[in-house]
Amino acid sequence: MSELPDVTSPRVLRELFKEHHLSPRRQWGQNFLVDANVAHKIAAALAAVPGKAAIEIGPGAGALTLLLYKDGYQVLALEIDRGLVHLLNTLFAGRAEVTVQQVDALKVNWRELIREYFGSDLEVKLVSNLPYVISGPFLFSILKEQFPFKAAVLMLQKEVARRLVAAPGDPDYGALSVLCCYYTQGKVLFDVSSNVFWPKPKVGSAVILLKPRSRLLALGEEPLFWTIVQGVFQQRRKTIFNNMVRLLPALRDQLTDLLTESGIDPVSRPEEIEVEQFAKLSQIIYNNHQ
Ligand code: SAM
Repeated sequence: MSELPDVTSPRVLRELFKEHHLSPRRQWGQNFLVDANVAHKIAAALAAVPGKAAIEIGPGAGALTLLLYKDGYQVLALEIDRGLVHLLNTLFAGRAEVTVQQVDALKVNWRELIREYFGSDLEVKLVSNLPYVISGPFLFSILKEQFPFKAAVLMLQKEVARRLVAAPGDPDYGALSVLCCYYTQGKVLFDVSSNVFWPKPKVGSAVILLKPRSRLLALGEEPLFWTIVQGVFQQRRKTIFNNMVRLLPALRDQLTDLLTESGIDPVSRPEEIEVEQFAKLSQIIYNNHQ
């Protein structure tokens, strides 16, 4: 087995890219981590949650994958770029603990993949320096599956990280905040400067930790809850009453009562409403129209 190179060294990374005829692709949000300290901090945050099975999204040249391997994880690394998959398969040849697959992370059924690859009752952690081009849809996709991970440590654009953990009244509070808070407990761990990437992105990043909630609030049915939450934030300056009339016009005459019963002032704006109130509203509407 060949020795594993330090891919957080810009010189080593450039040489590897040259050898494999690769160059960073903007369309896939390729900003590679070239700072060993930050890579170690991410690995340490993941190690703070017990378990040695992990899925990594977008391993790139392996900055985080190498640390997971050294920490004794069984890793399933999903990378969209065929050239990088080839590079990683060369690096990890003969190391059965790491499997690299060419996969679009936006097209995965997570529960099915976990079951197939790791076995049914194993709890798997998720880690990624997430490509900024997919961060929104990717986060919605794992929440849609009720966050099927033991924990996630994700590096995101700072602005997306703030949206994830925003509280009612914050300017960043939106559908992603409500859904994230419904399924998980999230916390920003630390900020990361744009200087630690090659090429350097325009914006700063932050690393967040997400853990699943042990008990989910009652909400009637999930599709209705998602329709309400995603729908009302499309027009966040309008009152919740007007938004709900637009989404569910058949309920116009009962809406004031339904909102009041859910503890929501009909003239309040979506950005003032707590996750518990959204869940209650969904449950009350569902129960009334069974
Ligand atoms: N983990 C590496 C690091 O920290 O240096 C690379 C991180 S880079 C920000 C994002 C990686 O995600 C790239 O390798 C990119 O090719 C990959 N990627 C982009 N879109 C993807 C998708 N839809 N599915 C899987 N991987 C994707």
